[in-house]
Amino acid sequence: DNMIVATNVDKIYPNGCHALKKVSATVKRGEVVVIIGPSGSGKSTFLRTLNQLEVINSGDIMIDGMDMYARGSNINALRENVGMVFQSFNLFPHKTVKGNVMLAPLTVTKRDAKEVEQHAKDLIYRVGLAEKMDVYPSHLSGGQQQRVAIARALAMKPDVMLFDEPTSALDPEMVGEVLDVMKALAADGMTMVVVTHEMGFAREVADRVLFMEDGELLVSDTPENVFDTT
Ligand code: ADP
Ligand code: ADP
Repeated sequence: DNMIVATNVDKIYPNGCHALKKVSATVKRGEVVVIIGPSGSGKSTFLRTLNQLEVINSGDIMIDGMDMYARGSNINALRENVGMVFQSFNLFPHKTVKGNVMLAPLTVTKRDAKEVEQHAKDLIYRVGLAEKMDVYPSHLSGGQQQRVAIARALAMKPDVMLFDEPTSALDPEMVGEVLDVMKALAADGMTMVVVTHEMGFAREVADRVLFMEDGELLVSDTPENVFDTT
């Protein structure tokens, strides 16, 4: 049962940079896929095409059985189904932790405010920040802010979560707390695509590792085969 099917995806930026060259990859429901490769190899671009932050030049992307590029497809619905966490947390500074997590579901879904609030509280509890519910982001560490960003992405009840170097902007002592939240999410069966330099996470948590170089997907294999051979 495939959650993501990318077929022959090509991305050429307006400046001519050919960032993705016929990239084909599938991600099964519940699978955790980690993308590795040198800087500039297209990892971030590929992730961003999966929720149409970048529009592709050719190829096809299906998410949960829906064609992202079919005429008349509901891009907003598709996007809501794909949560994304970035290197920078970008929380709203004038909203509390709970306010940040509730904002998107309150504004773009028809869910009842009470239900949205309860769900937000549950998510904040899950990322270990129950005692920070009503605190503003400036009073949180980087690791705590990134955990809020994860809760905020989960608030839309996505079926897929994308992570673009989620720990790269953090002080080293805060990396573990964010990876632990991601591990728990993976153990819960969330479908995840993660760009990271944390090879320990890739080894321990990934079902499959993709290796990209110069816009091409060169390897798709188990962590054992990727890391333990050669
Ligand atoms: P990675 O995530 O592996 O570091 P990126 O996807 O960020 O790689 O970048 C892939 C290539 O696309 C690089 O050569 C980069 O300079 C280029 N690139 C990324 N974003 C843009 C952009 N907005 N405009 C033009 N070129 C870009
Ligand atoms: P990363 O490798 O983590 O993706 P980069 O430093 O490559 O980060 O890119 C940071 C930002 O700059 C991204 O938004 C990317 O799209 C943009 N960018 C990267 N390369 C170029 C480029 N050659 N021209 C324009 N924008 C770019």
